[in-house]
Amino acid sequence: MFKLTGCCHCGNVRVEIALTHPAAEYHPRACDCDFCCKHGGSYLSDADGSLVIEVKDERLLRRYRQGSNTADMLFCGNCGVLVGAAYPSETGLYAVINTRIIEGGAAFGEAQTVSPKTLSAAEKVERWKKLWFADVTFSPGRSE
Ligand SMILES: [Zn+2]
Repeated sequence: MFKLTGCCHCGNVRVEIALTHPAAEYHPRACDCDFCCKHGGSYLSDADGSLVIEVKDERLLRRYRQGSNTADMLFCGNCGVLVGAAYPSETGLYAVINTRIIEGGAAFGEAQTVSPKTLSAAEKVERWKKLWFADVTFSPGRSE
């Protein structure tokens, strides 16, 4: 497995990622919806990899729903950085990470523009279940 770490600007939200391939083999998905364009977000996931999301103070983790209103855009309410998105399905949590928060200068493949906004809500869910991290551990810290 290839490990990567990332965090928001203030360090309240940290992620640990394990990928099945080197970073260069991934093409971050630059979503063309209004929300993601405003953030310059491009997303990384590996359906066979794993993801840990650690939050120091969960009160500062904000969720925002837009588009089809089914997934939560996750961002730090303290520093404002967009961390990624999560979809709480009936069988578990799926998530994707904004490559902008990855540390250590990981060199990904060229980003590809994607347009999930053209999909129906059901098609989106199907896509997330196929592409997003399915092995997701969410570890909220205690509020201090
Ligand atoms: Zn932060």
